[in-house]
Amino acid sequence: MSDPGLRERDPEIADLVAKEEQRQRDCLRLIPSENYVSRAVLEASGTVLTNKYSEGYPGKRYYEGQQLIDPVERLAIDRARALFGVDHANVQPYSGSPANLAVYLAFCKPGDTIMGMALPAGGHLTHGWGVSITGSFFRPVRYGVKKATGRVDLDEVREIARKERPKILWAGGTAIPRTVDFAGFASIAKEVGAILVADIAHIAGLVAGGAHPSPVGHAEVISTTTHKTLRGPRGGMLMCNANHAAAIDKAVFPGLQGGPHNHTTAAIAVALKEAATDEFKAYAHQIVKNSRALAEELLARGFDLVSGGSDNHLILIDLTNKDVPGKTAARALDRAGIETNYNTVPDDPRKPFDPSGVRIGTPAMTSRGLREAEMKKVASWMDEAIRNHADESALGRIAGEVRELCHAFPAPGL
Ligand SMILES: *Cc1c(COP(=O)(O)O)cnc(C)c1O
Repeated sequence: MSDPGLRERDPEIADLVAKEEQRQRDCLRLIPSENYVSRAVLEASGTVLTNKYSEGYPGKRYYEGQQLIDPVERLAIDRARALFGVDHANVQPYSGSPANLAVYLAFCKPGDTIMGMALPAGGHLTHGWGVSITGSFFRPVRYGVKKATGRVDLDEVREIARKERPKILWAGGTAIPRTVDFAGFASIAKEVGAILVADIAHIAGLVAGGAHPSPVGHAEVISTTTHKTLRGPRGGMLMCNANHAAAIDKAVFPGLQGGPHNHTTAAIAVALKEAATDEFKAYAHQIVKNSRALAEELLARGFDLVSGGSDNHLILIDLTNKDVPGKTAARALDRAGIETNYNTVPDDPRKPFDPSGVRIGTPAMTSRGLREAEMKKVASWMDEAIRNHADESALGRIAGEVRELCHAFPAPGL
């Protein structure tokens, strides 16, 4: 049987992939949930492990032929346990959202009260927002951030939790520029008898590298994606204390999923090995240094930042004072070779599909090797592009300058 490669078999797809690779090479990627995986991670995720069915867990499968898959999954599990210092890890969730669904399945019945950060304040859809299954199958209650500080007020969280007695309390989110106080959340969860779940999807790499306090010892369950700051393939992981291990495993399989994606498991194992190196620790700390430096440079140019700055990898810009809607700014930045996403800001007077903010972050740029010195340049390009959002020639000129910088800092994996 003829078995041609991708280019020969499907030139249309091959062409689109090649162009996407070129685009990733030429653009400055400031979307805080994105990154560049290493060649090793990329290689592992494109292997024949995709051909194998492995329902179950190592040593207890429903299919034969697991002689080599079991050690792959065991390596991933052991590396996750060692890296984060947890009793138990499940590396099978297909992504962050299914991982969170498994948490609900493990601990809640339909209609139970659950509590998370509101989406417009920086929470994730799966923490009980209305359009998500998590907001309709359960009874969601929400906390936000103080308008004046842009930060979570734990006294307010405590007050709501005391009144509502949620089964699960989520800590973490998707647009939080500041350190999450896991110990503070834990004391509230303990007081009201809730299970504290730390969702570290965004900050897992910072936690692994010691650049953000760890939820271990505070949260009974930890959920994460593997593809954001952790710099692995697209996937999810759940970690927990030994007493919850059986419930978590049962919820992932057979509760929610079928066969694990073994090629992804292999790539997660590789990413976890990389994340245990000193080089990765330095990377995690550099992400934060870059974010702080970029925040300073933006503030110096009159940008209003939610919470006034950044402690982690993420910056949320409120463009209200610049009189430019978030979407207009994000579109202009994209034409200038700078990829961001428009985002709501706390108490946004505008609509979610046309909000006031732009969300940016430093994980991908830091993977390219950019440092504080380059952040000055990035901030000035952003400022210029947003001021000249209707001037195609200015945006085109910036895109050329961005491309030049990108070529001087080649991204991993490309
Ligand atoms: C990204 C994210 C998720 C969901 O991850 P997907 O892989 O996109 O499903 C869940 N929680 C938080 C806090 C996230 O940032």
